[in-house]
Amino acid sequence: MEVSIAKGSGFCFGVKRAIRLAERALEESEGPLYTLGELIHNPQVVGELEKKGLMIAASISDIDRGTLVIRSHGASEEVIEGAKAKNINVVDATCPFVKKAQEHARSLSESGYRVVVVGDKGHPEVDAIAAGLSDVTVLGTEVEAEHLKKVEKMGVVAQTTQSVETLSKVVVVLLGKAQELRVYNTICETTFQRQAETMKLAGEVDVMVVVGGKNSANTARLYDISRRRVRRTHWVESASELKREWFKGAVHAGVTGGASTPDWLIREVANRIASIEARSK
Ligand code: SF4
Repeated sequence: MEVSIAKGSGFCFGVKRAIRLAERALEESEGPLYTLGELIHNPQVVGELEKKGLMIAASISDIDRGTLVIRSHGASEEVIEGAKAKNINVVDATCPFVKKAQEHARSLSESGYRVVVVGDKGHPEVDAIAAGLSDVTVLGTEVEAEHLKKVEKMGVVAQTTQSVETLSKVVVVLLGKAQELRVYNTICETTFQRQAETMKLAGEVDVMVVVGGKNSANTARLYDISRRRVRRTHWVESASELKREWFKGAVHAGVTGGASTPDWLIREVANRIASIEARSK
């Protein structure tokens, strides 16, 4: 069986940067080091960082001293200022693409637009984009967009890992919901390319395996995109979850990975699939 890995799989620029900044802070900062929630949505990588001393706090009220690393998802001004007010050293690892989405949302809000964030309610990146805005709605589908009231001015930003398809469908509905509609396509380039490569590979194989944390929004989207192309799509966090029966009769398997999935984990899954095939001969 041939095993192909989707181009561009694995750590994105923003995740690599966040890990690099956290590792540097682990070496250089004095006192305890925290993130609010997991640094990235991958249990293996988070486990390694925890072994090196990175601790996970639920909120800044749980932190009295030391250093706080802001994740690539970003955090609200309230959180950052709250940490500084407690004399906690802040290392900001917010991905620049996420920062851009935050800035667009803020400037739309300040200019009197009702802000619509197309993303997952409760996701930390979406919460940080929406935080502190006076008139903001978070929605994830065109069906939810149908329920919005018509307003004069509406501005749209997307969660950086949103699918282009969903954003397009929502925008079509929103065209009927405002006299003036401004749309910022804040889906990051890496996400866009990764989704396109996953879709392409899923159309060429018998089975797809998506590798990534079960709490990772961008991995969930890769899974949905792949499953629309090939029903035999499976989502695993590591090679140990692979099942031989998934590959029965398959001649070509594809592997793709989310932005917070390390390259070695993706290769390990691809190698294990090849070895399952070899053992069943
Ligand atoms: S997926 Fe894009 S926006 Fe998100 S951290 Fe990676 S590079 Fe940044």
